[in-house]
Amino acid sequence: MWNERMAKRTNLFESSVIRELLKLTAKKDLISFAGGLPGPETFPVEEFREASNKVLKDNGIQALQYTITEGYPPLREFLASYLSKKGIKCNAKNILLTNGSQQALDLIAKVMCDPGDHILLEEPSYLGAIQAFTAYETKFITIPIDKNGTLTNFLEEKVKKYNPKFVYLLPNFHNPAGVTLSLDRRKEVIEVANKTGTLIIEDDPYGDLRYTGESLSPIKSFDTNDNVIYLGTFSKVLSPGVRIGWIVAPDNIMIKLVEAKQGTDLCSSPFIHMVVYELCKNNILDIQIPKIKKIYGERCKLMLDAIEKYFPEGSDWTKPEGGLFIWVQLQEKYNTKELFTKAIEKNVAYVPGFCFYANGGGENTMRLNFSNAQNDMIEVGIKRLSEIF
Ligand code: PMP
Repeated sequence: MWNERMAKRTNLFESSVIRELLKLTAKKDLISFAGGLPGPETFPVEEFREASNKVLKDNGIQALQYTITEGYPPLREFLASYLSKKGIKCNAKNILLTNGSQQALDLIAKVMCDPGDHILLEEPSYLGAIQAFTAYETKFITIPIDKNGTLTNFLEEKVKKYNPKFVYLLPNFHNPAGVTLSLDRRKEVIEVANKTGTLIIEDDPYGDLRYTGESLSPIKSFDTNDNVIYLGTFSKVLSPGVRIGWIVAPDNIMIKLVEAKQGTDLCSSPFIHMVVYELCKNNILDIQIPKIKKIYGERCKLMLDAIEKYFPEGSDWTKPEGGLFIWVQLQEKYNTKELFTKAIEKNVAYVPGFCFYANGGGENTMRLNFSNAQNDMIEVGIKRLSEIF
């Protein structure tokens, strides 16, 4: 009965298709390649328990009080030094801790976008970003990708034509496409940003999870003109449950992001910031990252081998060097949304690729996650999938 009283923009809100589909995957015995969940065996539960006890014992009052919106300063200082190892030069004062990088996406659109503004993003792109930006009544312009990431040769032309408020890119182990932006193209992005004065949002949740090949410097590391906002998160290297992400932003945007966050939640949890700082200070990432890389690297290989063995002729898929996802393109005759119900009947799940297309398309594509599947279930699940084609 309240619908007519709600803001018009709520007509644009939709529950993420993935979340709706995931409800179907709660079936017992179902092998799910659908979500983007980290493997549960990677969570350092005992270390969290000890760090929480220490924080409460040494600093309980501060941990349980409100804190500044920017987030716990020692954790921001830790991040500044951590990012410097990736070639990103920034001060703690330019780092805002957010409630996961999902909140960062929301805050950026809140600060940058008026209704009707254009955002340029890849096709396909991260569904959560499309969802966050849509709430601010933005329009999407898309740019295709290939096995080396965004087709940057289209970038300048699209930027000039549509004057987007920003360009949203996923250079490392793309979600959903699994591809990585080549070094040359990273430099080209910066050249276009410098030439046209366009803001680039570099979303990098998976950068530390490389299983093969050489690490590439973030786009932000080439940025000398404050044209790039960089996003990171602890979700994939420590725990998504801590809900800590971060934004590295230029001074004037930072001020507005902080004001926007104040209106949203005053501040994130100082308690959890302090616990995560305690763990980081004791070098937990040096243990976590190699451990996770070993587990997911094996799963990725198992899945690639199984796809090779079972998928129908005419299928094409990405061979990710890191991250959590493999992207499959089937022959045109297949519709992965329609096939989804059949897959569920066979007790296996994936995400139909159309979910990741801001302006429609991708009906014959699918995203497969390998981080959350047990090794011995990967071949079984891929074989089941192949039976529905
Ligand atoms: N960006 C991308 C590309 C992601 O894949 C995710 C999580 N799946 C996020 C942002 C949000 O992550 P979080 O809020 O857990 O930091």
